[in-house]
This record gives sequence, C-alpha cells and structure tokens, in this order.
Amino acid sequence: MMLVLKFGGTSVGSSEAIGKLISILGDPEHVRKVRVVVVSALSGMTDSLIGAAKQAAAGESAYAAAVKAMEDRHRKISRAFLTGENRQAADAAIKAVFVELNRTLDGIGILRELSPRILDHVMSFGERLSAALIARVCTAGGIPAEYLDARPLILTDDNHGAAQYRTEETYSRIRSYLRKNTVLQIATGFIGSTAEGYTTTLGRGGSDLSAAIFGAAIGAKTVEIWTDVDGILTADPKLVQSAFRISSLSYNEAMELSHFGAKVLHPPTVRPALEKGIPIWIRNTFNPESGGTLISDKAGPGDYPIRGISSMGNITLVRVQGSGMVGVAGFSSRLFGALARKRISVILISQASSEYSICFAVAPQDGQAATQAIREEFAREIADAAIEEPAAENDLAIIAVVGSNMKHTPGISGKVFHALGRSGVNVIAIAQGSSEINISAVIHSKDVIKALSAVHEAFFLAEIRSVNLFLLGIGLIGGTLLEQIVGHHEILADEYKIRIKVVGIANSKRMIFNPRGLAPKKIKAVLTSGDQSNASAGTEIFPLDLGEFIRRMKSLNMPNTAFCDCTASDQVSALYAEILKSNIPIVTPNKRANSGSFEYYKTLRGYSKNRGIPYLYETTVCAGLPVISTLRDLALSGDKVRRIEAVLSGTLSFIFNNYDGSKSFSALVREAKAKGYTEPDPRDDLNAMDAARKALILARECGMSLEFSAVDIEPLLPPSCFKANGVDAFFAELEKADEDFEKRRKAAAAEGAVLRYVAVIEEGSARISLRAEKPGSPFLSLMDADNIVVITTDRYSKLPMVIKGPGAGAQVTAGGVFADIVRIARTLV
Ligand code: ADP
Ligand code: ASP
Ligand code: MG
Repeated sequence: MMLVLKFGGTSVGSSEAIGKLISILGDPEHVRKVRVVVVSALSGMTDSLIGAAKQAAAGESAYAAAVKAMEDRHRKISRAFLTGENRQAADAAIKAVFVELNRTLDGIGILRELSPRILDHVMSFGERLSAALIARVCTAGGIPAEYLDARPLILTDDNHGAAQYRTEETYSRIRSYLRKNTVLQIATGFIGSTAEGYTTTLGRGGSDLSAAIFGAAIGAKTVEIWTDVDGILTADPKLVQSAFRISSLSYNEAMELSHFGAKVLHPPTVRPALEKGIPIWIRNTFNPESGGTLISDKAGPGDYPIRGISSMGNITLVRVQGSGMVGVAGFSSRLFGALARKRISVILISQASSEYSICFAVAPQDGQAATQAIREEFAREIADAAIEEPAAENDLAIIAVVGSNMKHTPGISGKVFHALGRSGVNVIAIAQGSSEINISAVIHSKDVIKALSAVHEAFFLAEIRSVNLFLLGIGLIGGTLLEQIVGHHEILADEYKIRIKVVGIANSKRMIFNPRGLAPKKIKAVLTSGDQSNASAGTEIFPLDLGEFIRRMKSLNMPNTAFCDCTASDQVSALYAEILKSNIPIVTPNKRANSGSFEYYKTLRGYSKNRGIPYLYETTVCAGLPVISTLRDLALSGDKVRRIEAVLSGTLSFIFNNYDGSKSFSALVREAKAKGYTEPDPRDDLNAMDAARKALILARECGMSLEFSAVDIEPLLPPSCFKANGVDAFFAELEKADEDFEKRRKAAAAEGAVLRYVAVIEEGSARISLRAEKPGSPFLSLMDADNIVVITTDRYSKLPMVIKGPGAGAQVTAGGVFADIVRIARTLV
C-alpha cells in the first residue's frame, strides 16, 4: 500500500505543527505505508520571499532583516527537534541555503531587475528549506527519510509563475528516481524545472499539485492533503462562520469549487488524480480524527441539493459587444485564441443568447492585457464600429454554487438568485457550466460575504431563517418589542426556525452596534449608561447620529438586514426612501411617512413593489389589529373596498363609549387623562389629528391619492379650547362646552342612539365627524378604548366585515411590529 501525503504551510509552519506531522507519519495508519511526503514552505515564507525579492529589485536594503527572520524561524525548528551533530549539520545546511538566498537577492539588488524566472528561483528557497529540514527531523524522530528536491523530476514548460508540467516525462522521472531511492522521501512541493534546468513554480498553492503528480506517477492508493481545516467545507470558514465539512465530493465538484476560489485545494490538483482514479483525501493536521473530505469517483449524492459555495474575491470583467459581432466569422475562437496567445487565463465566460455581447472574467492583473489583445485582434472590426471598444470593470468577485445534484433538482438557480436579490446583491453576470454542476454569478467585491452567507443560509441552514435587525427607538414600543423578542426567542428558533438578531440599536442619545448580535437583555442598560464594560464583546458605542446609523447599517452589508423604526419622528421617516433604495426592508409603527405627502408614500410603496423589498406598517393603524393586511388580502383576492367606517382613536373611543350622561364630558376627559389614556395635553387627542392620519393611511391603502389637508375633520371642541393657555385653562374652557355636548347626547339618546366620533372613507374622500349611532350599528358595542374598522366591499356588501379590539397599548403594538418582523423572516428562502 503506497500513500502520498502532503503537508501545507501551516502544517509545517511551527514546531508544534511539525510535531503533529511526525506523529501522523508514525501512527499505525501511516507507518511504513507512506512513500512520499510533499511539503510546502513554512507558512508565510513564500510571501516573505516575494516581498524580499521586490524590495531588492526596488533598491531597498530592508530585505536583509526579513531574510534574517526567515533564517531564525528555520533554526528554531532545528533547535526544537535536533541535538548534537544532527543539529550542527542541519544548521550548517540552513546557513548554506541562506548564503545562497542572500547572494541571489543581492544580485537582484544590483541589477534592479526581477523577471518571473528569477522570482521563481527565489520562491523555490521556501520549499527547499522546509523539505530538507523536515527530512532531518523525521530521521531524528525515528522515521528514516531523505530530502528530495523535486525540481529535476517535475519537468515543466517555461511559463514562470504558473508552469505546466509534462505528464509522461515527469511520471517516468519520478518512477525511476523512486526505484533507486527506496527510503521515505520528503519532497519539495510547488517547484519544478524546465528542460534547460531553470526553476519554475506551479502557481501559488501548487504543492497540492506536486502531491497529486507524485501520487499519479506511482499509482498511490490515496493522496492525503493535510491542512489547517477539517476538509473542504461548504464555504470558506474565514468568510462564513456556519460553514461545515463536506464528507465526500466527486472530482468534478472539487475541481469547480477550487477553480472558483476554494483555496483549500489548488485547482489543477484534481486532474492527475482523476486520470488515474486516485482518491484525494483532505485532512486536518490539527484534528486528525475529523473524517476530512474524500474526493473520488464514488461520492454519494449527499444530503443537500448543492455541495458547496466558493468565491473569488478579486476579478476583472471584460465586456465585448457590438451589433456586428453576430456576423464576425469565428468570433469566439478568435477572441479566446487572442487571449490564450497572451497566456491570459479566463475564469468565467458569459454570453447573452443574442450573441450581441460576451463577457469574461480574468485576474485583475490580466485586465489590461486582455483589452489590449482584443483591440489588436479586432482592430478592423472596431474601426468599422462592428464591435465596440472592449470595456473592463474592476472590483468584482465571483461566487459559484457547486454540486452535481443540481442536474436533477429544478429550482436551484431560482433559489440562488432569490437569496441574492433578497439581500440586495446586484448580479452583474451569470454563467452556468454546461456540465450543470455549477452556477456562478459575478457581483461587486463588497458584497461577497453577504452573498456567501445569504446563499449558504438558503441551502444549508434552510431550516433557520435569521433577520439582522436595526432598531431605532426603545421607548414604550421599542422597549416592549425588545422584551418580546427576548421572551419569544426560543420558541421562535425551535418551532419556527426563525432567529432575530439585533445588530444595531439607538435611543435618542446613543447608538450601539455589534455584527455578531447584541445581547438583548443588556441593550437597555448599555444604551442608557453608555458603559462599554457592560456590553458583549465586539459592541461599539457612539453618540446618536441618524445618518451615521443608516450608513453603518448599509456598510455592514449583512444578509437579511431589516430596519425597524419605533420612533414617532419625521426625521427618521424621511430616511425610509434611502433605506428601501438600499434594498433593506422596513417595519414601522411610525405613521409619519405614510401620512406625509402622497408623493412620498407613493415613492416608498413603489420602491417596495419594484424591488420586492418589504415595507410593513401594520401597526400604524389600530396597533396590532390586522387592518392593513386585511385590506391587502381583499385587494389581492379581487375584492373591492367600497367604504370604511372606523373609530381610530383609542382615547376618543374611551370618552364616547363612557359618555352616558352619568358624568359631564369634561369630567370624562379628566378621567381619561388620569388613566393615562390621553397625551399630557388632552387637546393632542381631541384635535383628532392622530385619527386623521390613520384615516389618511387607510384611504391611501384603498388606492386614493389624498393629501392630509384633504381629510375633512369636524372639530370636536370650540376654538376657545385650543386658544386656552395651558392644560388647566383648557379644562376651564371645556367645562363651558359641557352643556352643548350634553344637548347632542340627549338628542341622540332620545332616538336610542349614542355618540361616536367616526372616520368615513369612501368615494375618494375621507372625513371624521361626530355621529349618532342607532341600535344595530356595530359602533354601539364598543368598550373601553377599543378601535373598530368596518369594511364594506363588493363581497362584504350586506354585512360588512368588522375588525375590532384594542387599538393602542405597548404590548399589542409591539406585538404587531414583532409579527411584521417575523413576516420578513418568512419571506426569506
Ligand atoms: P495549506 O497551507 O495547508 O495548503 P491553504 O491556506 O492553502 O492551506 O488552504 C486552507 C485554507 O483554505 C483554509 O484555512 C480556508 O481558509 C481556505 N478555504 C477557502 N475555501 C475553503 C473551503 N471551501 N473549505 C475549506 N477551506 C477553505
Ligand atoms: N508555498 C507555496 C505557496 O505559498 C506553495 C504551497 O504552499 O502550496 O504558494
Ligand atoms: Mg494550499
């Protein structure tokens, strides 16, 4: 049984890691079964070498210190594992290599030139040092091993930086070398050489490929790639916290995931293994017990419709278009031929079915060369205006959703794009591989994490839907809402699979943020005290700045963000347009926006409708009673509202419901004030402004384009009441009106009727007036501070629909807001 193992940079990057490597080689699973161990340079070495070479080429001398640090790192490892003569020999070898490295860098410094060929040579020091040192450490640790500089064995072309190896010649060189050298070989990853003997590299991360080449050459049973994660995960764990291990994958799936950026596997690694049918097993050096990821031709279908999602953070999109493209013979082959001649590798291609435009993604450093190649190739067509000048767009990224189950499962792409759209991620181009095992989308770089999380959640955590909530205002409603979220948290998560995470919150003084979620129980204390030590780790506290609050909410750019406005401020409602435009849903009990100008109301509704971004304001009318949603449902199902009659003010409801002659009108108002049913100045209720705003919102919901000034309000009080200076003076004036009220009451009572202050919305108008309601009217049965909405429609024509109940109060209003937030969670995939 022959195995090839590969240990990556982190797995050889410290004495601790190398200790693990030794114990893995010595465990029963591996002892005497491993033929070749391929190693990377110590983590960070390749980058440091490149940095030093660039400094030298720029004429800076600072590289000397960096090189000294590199040497110390290797010596430290020698010190940790070797003693006596072994250590002396190792240190001498290390020293000799560093002398050579210093000479090379000095040479670069003198010539001030760093060609790709020389850079490859500089990079090769990393793997040469680590393999030589580890061979000594193994031997000293009881695992006899030899250092193998793989350069003479891996024959490549001269494409420095990303050389291609010559398959057969390489395989036969490896075989004949291993026939002669039968001890365990510790081989350099990443490097090879040209026929002329120049050092080449296989592309960053290329040690994986070296291991697969060794495996294929000797027909290994398995190639084990030991790294610093549990295997290939459903997404890069550095970007998506909830990513988890994929236990098995097909070669093609692994190829697609790595091609689109899953750095855990160097993309070309799969090919040699696939050709020889050798499984690749990715395992965690620091957690060998984890099952890892097995890439083979026997991968089962898996539990999910997709396997994983990867992303490439930095690409350039080049677009070629023109009406003459259709007629240009062999257009595509000329285009991609021109790119290939310049050795530009194309990551993704997307062509509109009209053939009028084609775009492709390349690495940013290739962007300019690509447009130049196109200009040259199609000079004539561009001059004739058959093809437009090629355009390149930077700062883009690709996310790719991969899995062979896709072939058999309809609706995958729908789900991907729904998740992206729902999170406000703009999709710039789309491509689906013809093998149908990947769907890729080009998006803006800034959206990568959000896009990954949204799509990851949609497929892998489909069960749990989370909302990242930004809440303004923690007064009576906002505060109660927070309590309700805390209280209902578990049931919501366990039974409904919905999680509400409060990420940002503000009162009138401060705002606090924590992308990982604020601890809801502590929020109030932190906001009131501003005391950082009270807050959970990662919480940031600032003085309130509304504009900044919104900017932060946008720039955190989290998936499933929702904004909730529990203030009564029109400064906040003025920001709704901007928020919806940023594709962030809004939930609000604040009436200001919808009862402001009709134009603004229309704009907000328009944004919501056209972008599919929820704008929910059930609680702006009658608190938690389902009035707005009922009107929506009626309209959706084709019914037509003819008339709405409603008591929309809790305070006025209380006053008239209890106005039975046993007390004077003014006494009742005093009672309502004492019970806390009125504003501090009861005129703020008795002027009916609040009821009129609600009536206006209802009218607009019924399709009427009304302005507030058009709501016809019959004043309840004589003007003298409003002129009175202060609350006491007001009550004095109100007492003078008692007699008039009593007269109206008596007149009504004479006919068995009672007085109610009712809003009527019909035929394009809205008015509020004091009416005498006769027996049989639904308004008679009102109690306490109830609201009532009586809706007459085409279908509810004989007997209207009646919605009745408490129309105010912190619990019911916050409950309604909560329900709207949950409604948003439910629209998530
Ligand atoms: P090594 O040095 O062992 O070759 P790399 O750093 O090249 O390791 O690759 C491992 C890293 O790849 C992980 O630490 C992880 O951040 C990254 N990575 C990106 N995508 C994935 C993924 N889908 N699954 C696992 N790791 C991933
Ligand atoms: N050391 C090389 C790099 O960092 C190769 C590898 O680690 O696979 O790119
Ligand atoms: Mg790697």
